[in-house]
Amino acid sequence: MSQQMAYFEGNFVPIEEANLNVMTHAFNYGSAVFEGIRGNWNPAHEELYLFKVREHIDRLVQSARILRMNGTYDADEISNLVVELARRCDYKEDMYIRPMVYKSGLDIGPAIHSVEDKLLIYVRPLGDYLDPNAGATVMTSSWRRVDDTSIPARAKVSGLYVNNGLATSEAKQNGMTEAIMLNQDGHVSEGAGENLVMIRNGVLISPPQSDNILEGITLDTALFLASEKLNLPVERRTIDRSELYIADELFMTGTAAHVTPVTEVDRVPVGDGQPGIVSRKLQKLFFDAITGELTEYESWLIPVYGE
Ligand code: PMP
Repeated sequence: MSQQMAYFEGNFVPIEEANLNVMTHAFNYGSAVFEGIRGNWNPAHEELYLFKVREHIDRLVQSARILRMNGTYDADEISNLVVELARRCDYKEDMYIRPMVYKSGLDIGPAIHSVEDKLLIYVRPLGDYLDPNAGATVMTSSWRRVDDTSIPARAKVSGLYVNNGLATSEAKQNGMTEAIMLNQDGHVSEGAGENLVMIRNGVLISPPQSDNILEGITLDTALFLASEKLNLPVERRTIDRSELYIADELFMTGTAAHVTPVTEVDRVPVGDGQPGIVSRKLQKLFFDAITGELTEYESWLIPVYGE
């Protein structure tokens, strides 16, 4: 029987027992860094495949470094804990793992350099975050993406997600699926929980790492598959908002959202308003890769039960 569990203060415990003191620094000041890792269930294989665990944990350790976390976080050790926790939960469905390093000190004051920190991990079932077939309708948010000079977007800092939350709610309350955020300089940054890729004249284009984006693991994978499997050129360059209105295709990438075609931006249809052909092909390739159907990319996966 499956059970929702957490790794908390050095132990594997039922989720109900993983509770924080209200004075915790991370709760008061948003001073935690986190990751999201997917476990994808393949019913034919009766296997749960965790996708790119090591890449996510490496990014967690980088985020922790940017937030001056003091603890020593060994990527191998954390990766092993993630797999062990997933195994103990025994899910036979798509799920999501959330490792966090959080400032656990109880003192008043926002300084981050001298506060104790700890690791926690929890797991939950998670189906589709965005409808993969319908295609997403998006709007350019009136909220600008937080700048590297304010809170670095390449670190997955929990407090930073207030910025994403404002944009997401604005989009949803306006009847859209998701928000696209612009940088302080007005160029396209990313979705509120996804990276963005535009296709123009057969070239896949995505904003560079220095445009206040999260350095996405799904994005890397999708661009790699486009180049390797579809022989399409890939470019990282700054994107203007108005280019989104004349793109041939747009799609978003993210751990929760996988590869999701975008069919409308600011009420303007993308192409003919249907999910694009390349976006669809990439979506299928990505889905096959993460569910263990493409043996050449097995090294991206950890099978939780059959290891
Ligand atoms: N940007 C933001 C703001 C996100 O929250 C996410 C989800 N982690 C992404 C991009 C996509 O990154 P990844 O593919 O590594 O999940």
